[in-house]
Amino acid sequence: MEYNEEQKAAFKQQAAGRRRNQIVLAIPLAIGLIASELVRDEQAETILWIPEIIAGPILLLTVVCALIYSYRNWRFPGSNKYIGRSLFRKTCHACGIAIR
Ligand SMILES: [Zn+2]
Repeated sequence: MEYNEEQKAAFKQQAAGRRRNQIVLAIPLAIGLIASELVRDEQAETILWIPEIIAGPILLLTVVCALIYSYRNWRFPGSNKYIGRSLFRKTCHACGIAIR
């Protein structure tokens, strides 16, 4: 598939938006996970003052949803292929077009 310069520029712009979404998602998630480890009372069996039996599944579900979102979001706008773990890849591994 060949794209013109205008389309390629649009892909970069869309990819930048998707990258921002990845970061916006990752920061609170990372803070939440770190906090859940730090604010954990083994004796009272609470995580962030919430009983483990409730907080555990909520945390797990949040992580699973974030991973699913990330997998669907972090795709190259042109070929719709998953870009990979790096947020700063320069080209799409599938079509070789510049991501940024
Ligand atoms: Zn591609």
